[in-house]
Amino acid sequence: MRRVGVLLAVLLLGSCAPHQSDRVGPVALDRWSYGGMVAVANPYAAEAAAEVLRAGGHAVDAAIAAHAVLGLVEPQSSGLGGGAFMLVYQRAADQLFAFDGRETAPAGTHADMFLVNGEPMGFVDAWQSGLAVGVPGTVALYEASHQAFGRLDFPMLLAPAIQLAEQGFVVSPRLEGFLKRLQGVGRLSQNPATAAYFYPGGQPLSAGDLRNNPAYAQTLSRIAADGPRAFYEGALAEQIVAAVRAEPNPGTLALTDLATYSVARRDPLCAPAGPQRVCSMPPPSSGLAQIMILGLYDRLIAEADEASEADRESAFVDAQRLAYADRDHYVADPDFVAVPANDLVASGYLDVRARERVDPAAEARPGDPGAVLRGKPIIQRWGQDTTQAGAGTTHLSIVDRFGNAVSMTATVEAPFGSSRWAGGFLLNNEMTDFALQPLKGGQPVANTVAPGKRPRSSMSPVIVFDDKGQLLMVSGSPGGNSIVAYVAKTLVGVLRWDLTPQMAVDRANIVARGSTVRVETGVVGGAPVATLLGELGYPVEERQGENSGLHVILVTHDGLQGAADPRREGKVIAVPATD
Ligand code: GLU
Repeated sequence: MRRVGVLLAVLLLGSCAPHQSDRVGPVALDRWSYGGMVAVANPYAAEAAAEVLRAGGHAVDAAIAAHAVLGLVEPQSSGLGGGAFMLVYQRAADQLFAFDGRETAPAGTHADMFLVNGEPMGFVDAWQSGLAVGVPGTVALYEASHQAFGRLDFPMLLAPAIQLAEQGFVVSPRLEGFLKRLQGVGRLSQNPATAAYFYPGGQPLSAGDLRNNPAYAQTLSRIAADGPRAFYEGALAEQIVAAVRAEPNPGTLALTDLATYSVARRDPLCAPAGPQRVCSMPPPSSGLAQIMILGLYDRLIAEADEASEADRESAFVDAQRLAYADRDHYVADPDFVAVPANDLVASGYLDVRARERVDPAAEARPGDPGAVLRGKPIIQRWGQDTTQAGAGTTHLSIVDRFGNAVSMTATVEAPFGSSRWAGGFLLNNEMTDFALQPLKGGQPVANTVAPGKRPRSSMSPVIVFDDKGQLLMVSGSPGGNSIVAYVAKTLVGVLRWDLTPQMAVDRANIVARGSTVRVETGVVGGAPVATLLGELGYPVEERQGENSGLHVILVTHDGLQGAADPRREGKVIAVPATD
C-alpha cells in the first residue's frame, strides 16, 4: 500500500497540474470527521469501492475499483470500451480537478460517414456499426487520475473485478431485462462472441444466473501488470481494431488512434448560485447547464409573488427550457470550436436570459451571451443541434475518509455500446453523439464530427460547495439527453426545496427540452405535477418510466447522507471515519 502524507500530496498536486484546478473557497483543513460514502449503480461495485475506502484509499482509488466491477456486472451501461468524465475534489489542497476521458473520433472519420448513397443509415445500423466506435478513454482515465491522486497500488484496485470475473457474478434483473428486450433487435444476440456470452444456448442470461468472464479477468490482469499500454498497444489493441473493422458497416479505427489517445485535463467550470458554488465538467460535457438551471431557477422564483408550488414547478421547467436551448446550440468539443462556456454561466447573462422565459405553450430559442455581455452577437455562428443520445451510462458519487470527493459519469452510449466485443468487454458507439446532420439551416453545427474530436455529451457530474467553500454535495446521473434534467432535479430539490437526497432522487423526473415537458407519472407524486403543469399551459407528455440513475451524497452537520436511484440497482454504503 502506498500512503502519501498530506504535505507531500499538496506538494505533488501543486506541481502536477496547478493550472487545471479551481480554488473553491477558503482553505479549510479542520479534521474531516464524517467518514466516507459510496453511491454507485450496483451492490458488487459499491462493496468494492467501500472496501477500498476502508483500506485507506482515495475516492479516486474507490472509483476505479468500482468502475472496473461495473464494466463486468453492468456491461449495458459502461466499461473499458467506453469513456468517462471525472471531477475530483482534493481536500488537502482545496482544489478541484477535471479529467476528460471522453472517446475521440478516429483519424479516418469523416462528416458524412453515416450516409449510404447520400441517405442516413438506419438508426440500428449506425448504432451497431464499427463507424460508431470512438477511441475508448476509460483506461487512460484510470491511469491519469490514479497517477495524480491514488493512495493504493493500482493492481489492488482491479483485484475485486478480476476475482469476480473469474468466479462469476450473479446476473441482475436489470441486465436480464436489457438482454430480453434487445434479443433480435441489434447485433448483441448475433455477433458470435456477444451471443455466446450474453445468450448462451440462444437464451438471454437470466437474473440469478452465475456468469463468469475469463477474458475480462485476463484483460484487467494485463492492465494491472503493464498499465494502460496493455490496452492501447499490442494484442488487445489489435483485437479492438479487428472488432471495429468487422462487417457490417466497418469503422476506420486504427492502431495509431489507440496509441495516441490521451485524457484531457481541463479547468472545472464553477460559478456561484445563491449561497452555493456549483462546479461541473466543462464542455464537451453539458455540465454548464447545471449552473445555468440553478441560476435561472433562482432568478425566476425571485419574481414570483408567493413562490407557490405552481411558481416553483414552472420556474424549474422554464429554467430547463432556457438552458437546454443554449446547451443544444453552443456545446461541443472546446478543442475544436469556441464554446462560450464562461459566458453562458456568467451572472450578467443569466440575468438577461431569465427574462427570455417563454409562454408555456412556446418553445425556447437559444440566447446570445455575446450580444448580452459584449454587444457582439455569436448566435449565428452555429446551427441548432438536435442530437439524441442513448441510454448506456452510469454515475458514481464517492467521498473518502479524508473528505476528498469524486463525481464520475461513465458511458458506452447506447445499451451495450456498439455490441462489438474485444477482450471480454464491449466497445462504445459514442460517435453517434455527434450531430448526424453537419448543417442546420445552412449553418455548421458545433457538434459536427471531425478526426480527433470528442462528441458533445449530456453527462454532467457535479460537485457543490457551501457558502464557506466546504464540500456540500456530489451528484450525477446517466440518461442520455435527459441527464441535464435529472441532475438538476437533485440540485433544485436538495439546495432549494430542502429535500433529502433520497427524496429528491425519488421525485418524479421532469424533462423540459424542446417543445414538450415530459413528466414521469409512474412514480408517486408525478400525476399531480403533470396535471398542474398542464393547467399552466405546458404541453405535457406523460411518461411511466424514466431512465435516471442518480447517485448523490450530501454533507450535513450530522454526517453524510446518500441516495441511490430506485429506478436502477444502486447502493449506498457508509464507511466509518478514521480513528
Ligand atoms: N452518450 C451519452 C452522453 O454522453 C450518454 C448516454 C446515457 O446517458 O445513457 O451524453
